[in-house]
Amino acid sequence: MASLSLKGIEKQYPNGFKAVHNFNLEIADKEFIIFVGPSGCGKSTTLRMIAGLEDITGGTLEIDGKAVNDVEPKDRDIAMVFQNYALYPHMTVYDNMAFALKLRKVSKDEIDKAVRNAAKILGLESMLDRKPKALSGGQRQRVAMGRAIVRNPKVFLMDEPLSNLDAKLRVQMRIEIAKLHERLGATMIYVTHDQTEAMTLGTRIVVMKDGIVQQVDTPKNLYNNPANLFVAGFIGSPQMNFMDALVNVVNKNTVELTVGKYKLNLPIDKAERLIKGGYDKKTIVLGVRPEDIHDSEIFISNSPSSVIEAQVKVYELLGAEVFLYCDFEDIQITARVNPRTNLVSGERGTFAIDLEKIHLFDKESGESIA
Ligand code: ATP
Repeated sequence: MASLSLKGIEKQYPNGFKAVHNFNLEIADKEFIIFVGPSGCGKSTTLRMIAGLEDITGGTLEIDGKAVNDVEPKDRDIAMVFQNYALYPHMTVYDNMAFALKLRKVSKDEIDKAVRNAAKILGLESMLDRKPKALSGGQRQRVAMGRAIVRNPKVFLMDEPLSNLDAKLRVQMRIEIAKLHERLGATMIYVTHDQTEAMTLGTRIVVMKDGIVQQVDTPKNLYNNPANLFVAGFIGSPQMNFMDALVNVVNKNTVELTVGKYKLNLPIDKAERLIKGGYDKKTIVLGVRPEDIHDSEIFISNSPSSVIEAQVKVYELLGAEVFLYCDFEDIQITARVNPRTNLVSGERGTFAIDLEKIHLFDKESGESIA
C-alpha cells in the first residue's frame, strides 16, 4: 500500500475561484483519512486532485515519496469509488468488476481470480450474472467497491459512497467498509458530510471550511480538543452550546466566568490559561457539550459553583437519551440527559455544568484557549 504527502496543495478553478488553499497533510500507509466539512468546503476537489481528475494548481502531491502532479490518473495506482457508483448498466456485475483489468490486458484467469475474490469479500458471489438494475442500492454500492478492490490499488478514494443509501443500510455498509479497511490493510481517503461516518471510520479526520483545513486529528481529539469554534460546532450532535462569558481574575488561583447572572469558578488549569492569555475583563466564548450539562441531584449537590437554572422548552426522547432544549439567560442551550430525568417541557430545571469538561474560545479569533 502507500503513503501520501500533500504539500501546500492549492486549487484555483479556471473561473478564478480558489477552492482549496495551502492543504498540507502527511498520510501514512494503511491510514483511514476522512475529509469532512460543510457543502462546498473543497472536500471533493481535494480528493479529485489526488485521483488526478482535477489539475493541481499549486503545491506538490507525492505518493510513496514520488511527485505525481503530472502523472495520469490511470498511472497513479489509485481507485476511486463515487457517490453514484458509476456502474455500466449494460454489463453484468462480473463484467463491471472485470472491466478495468480487461483494459489493462490482464489474463482471463487472473481476472477471474480477482473478481471472484472481491465478490467473496463483498458477499456478491451469487449476483455476478445480474445487471446493476437488478440490484438493491446497497448491492450496487458493493459492486462499486468490488471494482476498486479488483484493481488492488495502492490507495482507495471514496467520495460520499454511502450517501444514496437509506439510514439502516448506511450503518451496515459503514461497518462493512471498516472491516474492508482492516482486511485489505489499504490506505483510504474518504469524503463525507456525515460526522458519524467520520467519527467511526477515520483513524484521522481532516475538518475543512472554505477550502482551508481547520484541524487534522483523531476522532477522539477532535471531539475533546477542538482547535476552534468552527470545529467545536461542527463535530458533535446536538452541537456544543456556546455562550458569551466575562472573565474576572480574582487572584492568581481564582478566575470567575460571568454568564448572565451566574458566576462560574474555573478549575485551576483553565484559570491559568486565561490569566496567561491576558483575558481579565474580556469577553470570551464558553463552550459546553450537551452531555456536560447534568440534571442529576448528585452532580448538582457536588458542583455548587456551576449550578444554573434553565427553562425546559422542548423535551425530546430518543430512546436511550433525552435532549432538553432550554432557555438559559438570553440564549438557547441543549442538555443531553438520562431518560430517567424528572424534567419535562415547561418546567424550570436546575442543572450543573461540568467545569472540567468546558471549552474556552477567543471571541475574536475563534481559536481555542483551553
Ligand atoms: P459537497 O459536500 O457539496 O460535495 P465539497 O466540499 O465536496 O462539497 P467541492 O465540490 O470540492 O466541495 O467544491 C468546492 C468549491 O469549489 C465549491 O464552492 C464549488 O462551487 C467550487 N467548484 C467546484 N467545481 C468547480 C468548477 N469546475 N469551477 C468553479 N468552481 C468550482
